[in-house]
Amino acid sequence: MTQIAFLGLGNMGGPMAANLVGAGHAVAGFDLVREALEAARAGGVGVAASAEAAVEGAEVVVTMLPAGRHVLSVYDAVLPRVAAGALLIDCSTIDVASARAAHARAAGAGLASLDAPVSGGVGGATAATLTFMAGGAPEAFARAEPILSAMGRKVVHCGEAGAGQAAKICNNMILGISMVGVAEAFVLAEKLGLSHQALFDVASTSSGQCWSLTTYCPVPGPVPTSPANSDYRPGFAAALMLKDLRLSQEAAGAAGAATPLGAHAEALYAAFEAAGHGGTDFSGIIRHLREAPREA
Ligand code: NAD
Repeated sequence: MTQIAFLGLGNMGGPMAANLVGAGHAVAGFDLVREALEAARAGGVGVAASAEAAVEGAEVVVTMLPAGRHVLSVYDAVLPRVAAGALLIDCSTIDVASARAAHARAAGAGLASLDAPVSGGVGGATAATLTFMAGGAPEAFARAEPILSAMGRKVVHCGEAGAGQAAKICNNMILGISMVGVAEAFVLAEKLGLSHQALFDVASTSSGQCWSLTTYCPVPGPVPTSPANSDYRPGFAAALMLKDLRLSQEAAGAAGAATPLGAHAEALYAAFEAAGHGGTDFSGIIRHLREAPREA
């Protein structure tokens, strides 16, 4: 049993903390929102009065927060209270620069740390089937692996500090671009009088095959479990896809990488969100493309 502090008990953090309890760990959690604390308490998490109180005596501190600024401000608040020898694991999806800054602050306090963002969404967090992509020293990864395995099915060590965040935003840039590509193909097929099922049957067994088509098909019918069959209820909300595409473009700008399709996907999702669809599943972008004028 490990004594774990869990900071950020939202849609993802709440069920992840409950799975750590289910695996036999002692978890002290904190969130700024009362409802999140109450839900975590119902899942067996011990509720602390503050982030600083939650980390008292913790051997591992997990954070699952909205963005880089939240992670850095929470680190600034709690690091003086974290016990020597503890391991910090940040599972939030944040920008690579903030992830590296978080590692530097941990190192400055003499603590080991890991960036370990996840793929798999709220369903994966609840079912403990997340994929973790981790960045940090091999020793930190070895210590974190059994903890992360209690919340997920696959744990990948991607490299040094920030490598987990880099893997996450590269993967999700592929996803955003591929979803737009698949949706465009269905829109073109509709204009050409080709049925959804016919395009699916061909492309899913041809070179157009990809996850956005075969698991998350953006039209209803061919894949009965995809969000298109439930009026694009998320799933993975377009606002979260936009967040990840923005992170990819920030990183591409800082690193000097040319990612023209990533930039275009970001612009399309920004327009989709501005039209009031941030809460729609990201595969709903097909509706936006159907309505877009030809020159867009
Ligand atoms: P969420 O908004 O539901 O949860 C974040 C929680 O952090 C909130 O409950 C908020 O009150 C809390 N918080 C903010 N500042 C805090 C502070 N100073 N101290 C304590 N708690 C604080 O978001 P989420 O959907 O759980 O996502 C969390 C992270 O996981 C994000 O970085 C997101 O990009 C990433 N992620 C989300 C999904 C998804 O499908 N929801 C999938 C993969 C990754």
